[in-house]
Amino acid sequence: MNLVIFGPPGAGKGTQSKFIVNKYNLYQLSTGDLLRSEIKNKTELGTKISSIINSGDLVSDEIVGNLIEKFISNDNFKNKIIFDGYPRTLTQANNLDNLLKKYNQRIDLVLKLSVSLATVKKRILERRTQENRADDNEELAIKRFNTYEKSSKPLIDYYAQSNLLKVVNGEASIVEINTEISGLIDSMKG
Ligand code: AMP
Repeated sequence: MNLVIFGPPGAGKGTQSKFIVNKYNLYQLSTGDLLRSEIKNKTELGTKISSIINSGDLVSDEIVGNLIEKFISNDNFKNKIIFDGYPRTLTQANNLDNLLKKYNQRIDLVLKLSVSLATVKKRILERRTQENRADDNEELAIKRFNTYEKSSKPLIDYYAQSNLLKVVNGEASIVEINTEISGLIDSMKG
């Protein structure tokens, strides 16, 4: 099974992805992590994208598309991927469908973590002390939240239409969210 998890920054995508990966033997494909590692390793791509990421904007659909194809084309990960932070635009959702089709795969479930801006602000400031992410400050949190709200709307409609979308209350505790997500995955697997 392949899953997509999405939600605003600070919704708990990373935390929940790690839990799902362990429980169901999947691989987490976080475009944010891949991009941050390019920056950390000072690659050519990293140099190009660091100012975009640090200003809270999205990098181009083409750049992230290239990153995810490396994963999808790898047989070790076939039908075992949780997409964390991808897709973020409708173009990316279409790219993802095409790529999965090319490698004989599909999306089985889309999880949307819903949280308020107030919660996002609080969590981002907590995460900043733990992970020291350059894009975790209040002003950028608000900007990234607004970018997410705007760009995710057509995505939500897109996945709702194909009956893949399940909305999870991201305000609940980590354990409660774990339980809700497991229930959704288990009922999908039948
Ligand atoms: P995240 O770790 O998912 O919050 O992503 C951190 C930052 O990486 C975002 O604010 C964007 O600048 C960039 N990014 C991550 N995933 C994508 C994507 N699918 N499309 C465009 N930009 C992305």
